[in-house]
Amino acid sequence: MTDLKNLSASEMQSLLAELGERPYRVGQIMKWLYRFGVPDFDSMTDLSKGLRARLAETARISRPLRLELQTGSDGTRKFLWELDDGARIESVLIPERDHWTLCVSSQAGCAMGCRFCRTASLGLKRNLSQAEIVNQVLGALEVLPAGENLTNLVFMGMGEPLANRINVVRALGVLTSPGLTGLSRRRVSLSTVGLVPELPLLGRDMPIGLTVSLNAADDKTRDWLMPINRKYNLQALHKALAAFPLPGRRMITVAYVLLAGVNDRPEQARELAGFLHGLRAKVNLIPFNAWPGAGFDAPDVETVLAFQEVLVRKNYTAIIRWSKGRDISAACGQLAGEPTPAA
Ligand code: SF4
Repeated sequence: MTDLKNLSASEMQSLLAELGERPYRVGQIMKWLYRFGVPDFDSMTDLSKGLRARLAETARISRPLRLELQTGSDGTRKFLWELDDGARIESVLIPERDHWTLCVSSQAGCAMGCRFCRTASLGLKRNLSQAEIVNQVLGALEVLPAGENLTNLVFMGMGEPLANRINVVRALGVLTSPGLTGLSRRRVSLSTVGLVPELPLLGRDMPIGLTVSLNAADDKTRDWLMPINRKYNLQALHKALAAFPLPGRRMITVAYVLLAGVNDRPEQARELAGFLHGLRAKVNLIPFNAWPGAGFDAPDVETVLAFQEVLVRKNYTAIIRWSKGRDISAACGQLAGEPTPAA
């Protein structure tokens, strides 16, 4: 049975046309689904009883099944969801000064094999559907404190979003439609390891903010840390990033997880500055969040500051991001789709 949350507005229009309904019904149903988050057709009170019954025979409305919701000491909330086939994914709701940011997953597991990432150890189970992406947002909206807004959405959870570009773009098409969830494309960004052929397609279909998980600016280190670099090396990645159609005055964010003794030396900061040349980019430096069996350590504070200093002296914006949600394993690279063990 068709899950309505897997349809675009025009696909929903076709389905309604088959039921003999006029196009304006699409707007009504989309509001019930995405603005009010109703669980069933009976709640759609401005549709006739007959239409509600016909919809219930033809389609369904999926609901996110929340297995766990944890709140960290800094207010970060981590959701563990179970999907229809038993696969588990996570999303993280992060409090900022005057708004909330939601970090969502795009795949169950991940095939990219980045050495420092906990999700990588799961391997790829499958891509998430449009509905499974959308449901993470709707489920998070349900727990948002009254009067507060979810304004920012980032695809930085489990999975490589560009490996599931079509469903990510479809989900965003619905989520950022005016008058529904309140999210705007201008406040959506996606983090990629650098699937070079996908970048222009994303720029064409959904020009949103872009973060590139770089983590090394020489091919030898990056080949070792991130196997994707053996397929699309730094030169190819640089070329694709330079051509990416950034919306408005946005810059590409280059994410660089600092791993003690691996990629944290001043000469590696200089190599990073070399990579940035010719890009409209800023850098997020993320000291590694260790997890059991990671095999890497975080650098000490002096090393982090020295790395930053090299970039700042070369006139690049480099911000150190001390990850939120550390105590509930919700920080970058820590999502593993399993309940967090009690501390
Ligand atoms: S860092 Fe991202 S792309 Fe790399 S393995 Fe982890 S989830 Fe996948």
